[in-house]
Amino acid sequence: MDHRLRRARLIDRLSDPGVDALLVTSLPNVRYLTGFTGSNGQAMIGARGGTFFTDGRYAEQSRREVPDLDRVTYSEGIAGRVHEACTAAGIERLGFESSNVTHASWRSLVEACAGVELVPVDSVVERLRWAKDLEELDAIDRAQDAADRAFESVLDRLVVGMTERQVARALEDGMRHAGADGLSFESIVAFGENAAEPHHEPNHRALEEGDVVKLDFGALWQRYHSDMTRTISFGALSAELRKLHDVVREAQQAGIDAVRAGAVAGDVDRAARTVIDDAGYGRNFGHGLGHGIGLEIHEGPRFHPASDHVLPTGAVVTIEPGIYVPGVGGVRIEDMVEVTDDGCRVIPTSTRELIEL
Ligand code: ZN
Ligand code: ZN
Repeated sequence: MDHRLRRARLIDRLSDPGVDALLVTSLPNVRYLTGFTGSNGQAMIGARGGTFFTDGRYAEQSRREVPDLDRVTYSEGIAGRVHEACTAAGIERLGFESSNVTHASWRSLVEACAGVELVPVDSVVERLRWAKDLEELDAIDRAQDAADRAFESVLDRLVVGMTERQVARALEDGMRHAGADGLSFESIVAFGENAAEPHHEPNHRALEEGDVVKLDFGALWQRYHSDMTRTISFGALSAELRKLHDVVREAQQAGIDAVRAGAVAGDVDRAARTVIDDAGYGRNFGHGLGHGIGLEIHEGPRFHPASDHVLPTGAVVTIEPGIYVPGVGGVRIEDMVEVTDDGCRVIPTSTRELIEL
C-alpha cells in the first residue's frame, strides 16, 4: 500500500481548512495513512513533515511498520509531544479530527499547545478513503470470497432443528477455514419470525420447515471487511414471504442499476426505495439502502433518501434493501459493489435469486 501517496493527497486537502498539519487520531485513518496495525497510534501529517506517536508497547512494531515518519514514543499522554512536534516543524495552525477527539483530550491539547491554534477538521481522511486503490479492492475481494465459500458450505448443512447460534458458528468457521483473518462483525442469523428484526442476535430458535433463513455476515482480510446478506427459503415459503423476496430483489436491482461514478447516494436510495413503496411496504423498510465499506464495516458514502454523497470511481458500497413484517418475517439482500465509471461491479459470486432448500 502506498502510504506516502495517501499522505500527499491528504496534504493537498489541508489548504481548504487552512491548517499546516492534521493530527490524525482515528485509528482506521492512522492505519490508512501509515500502515500501522497496533491498537494505539496517532499521526501528525503536514507539508513540513510527518510524526507518528505511539506508546512503548509499539516502539518496535512502529519502527517496522512506519519507517518513513519521525517516531515519538510517549508514556504520559500525547499532548506535550504534539506541542514539541509543532514547535520543531513551525506549525501554527493544527487541525484535529473533531468527530474523534473527546472533550477531555481537546482540553489537554489546548493546555499543552500554547501558541498553536487548534482547528476542528471533519472527515478529510474519511473522504480520501471512499475511493479504494487496487490493493484495497483485492483485499475486499478476498474477504468476500471467504464469505461466499462459507455461505456455500452452510447451505449444505442446514437441517431441521439446527439453532440460529449453530448456523452462526458454522458460517464463522467456514470463513476462517476459507482463510479469513477474522469476522467483519458478529453474524446475524434469523429464522422465521425472527427475520422481522433487521439486526437479530442469534439465539436457540430451532430451524423449521417453511422458515426464511436470513444470514448477514462478513469476513476480514488484512483488516478489510466484507458484508453480505442472503435470505433463503427452507422448505416451502408462504406466498407473502415469496412476494417479499421478489420485491426486495427487484428493489436491490434498481439500486444496483442506479450506481455509477457521479451518482448521488440519495438518488440511488430512492431508486430502490420506490420499488418497495410501490409494493406497499414502504413503512417496512426502516433503514438506509447501504454504506461504504473498507477498513471499517460502516463508512462513507452513506445511502439514505437525503444523502448528498457523490459516488467516486473505486468506492465499495453495499446495496441492502429489506422488508420486515412483525410476526411474519423479513427479507434483506445485501451485496457489495465497486463503483465504476459507467456502472458497478457486483463483488459477491453467490446468487441473488431466491435459494430454495
Ligand atoms: Zn450486512
Ligand atoms: Zn451492511
